[in-house]
Amino acid sequence: MGYQLQIEDMKQLFGRWKADYILLGPRRMAGEGMYSDTDVIRYGELENWEDLEWEQRSHYSFKEAVLPITQILFYFTEETVTEAQPERRKPALIFLRSCDIHAIKRLDEIYLRNRFEDKYYRRLRDNVKLVLMGCPLSCDSGFCVSMGTNRTEDYDAAVRPGAEGVRIASKWAELDRELERLGAAVEFRPDFPEENAVKVEIPERLDNSVIQAPLWKEYDSRCVGCGRCNFVCPTCTCFTMQDIYYTDNGRAGERRRVHASCMVDGYTDVAGGGCYRKANGERMRFKVLHKISDFKKQFGDQMCVGCGRCDDICPEYISFSACVNRVAALAKEENRHES
Ligand code: SF4
Ligand code: SF4
Repeated sequence: MGYQLQIEDMKQLFGRWKADYILLGPRRMAGEGMYSDTDVIRYGELENWEDLEWEQRSHYSFKEAVLPITQILFYFTEETVTEAQPERRKPALIFLRSCDIHAIKRLDEIYLRNRFEDKYYRRLRDNVKLVLMGCPLSCDSGFCVSMGTNRTEDYDAAVRPGAEGVRIASKWAELDRELERLGAAVEFRPDFPEENAVKVEIPERLDNSVIQAPLWKEYDSRCVGCGRCNFVCPTCTCFTMQDIYYTDNGRAGERRRVHASCMVDGYTDVAGGGCYRKANGERMRFKVLHKISDFKKQFGDQMCVGCGRCDDICPEYISFSACVNRVAALAKEENRHES
């Protein structure tokens, strides 16, 4: 059950949302892509309904809305520590696809249910409404069907634009009242892709021979350790700390947490000049196995939601999905030898 809105009514609704919420969604930024004359699609504040990019999946994810790239935690002087105010004064309404709604659940596991609750994440996350953008067709590189993230019911509203206006479904009482007033009741089910061109097999059992396999060595030279795959990933959540000093004596300043990447130099450096994962192949192995094995052991779901962004962004054309399939083939081979 849903409502059919004329486009002008949708714009009116959008305007009313804008008064109460910060509206965040995928926007096309012309000419700002990674190659010349290409566009980039990334999340940003929406001024108008027309700003939303529907055709193509975004290159970068929504995650900055709940996990800012740089977040001030507190300010310090010699005598005081003052907690920073929340980044947003208004709640946010985020437009996102099914795979990304699954991704926000992964972020919730990491930041809310991972032994203790992160209050900085909590205060942004609590003030968020999710608006599902359906996918009538699969994107080119996604493998959400393989990961079971192609469908979701965890949204506050679902929207589908069309030639005849906009169809919208709601699980949000306040919006229901608006829709009753603005639109006509119609049958509406959000679009979910049933098949992707890219299919991924997740290995059932990984033993030591997979972990020691020579395939990881290939990435020593192929991967340049730029970290782009982490920065676009909706479920990569690592950060590092930075202290910024306002005074030469270092006694006043602020502490920030800043997005970090397990693929870049310095991530595993430890005191005494040590480094746990020096080679890019070792970093690739850590990332891949975290996404398709280790996270699940702790939280029950695979960490990767199959959005395909890491495959699209890699300047060396390294495909995460192809790597997972290679690992699965290797694991099968090893299991066959054992039995
Ligand atoms: S690992 Fe790649 S495909 Fe999986 S969620 Fe992250 S960016 Fe998307
Ligand atoms: S896999 Fe690709 S995107 Fe990721 S760090 Fe290596 S070169 Fe960069």
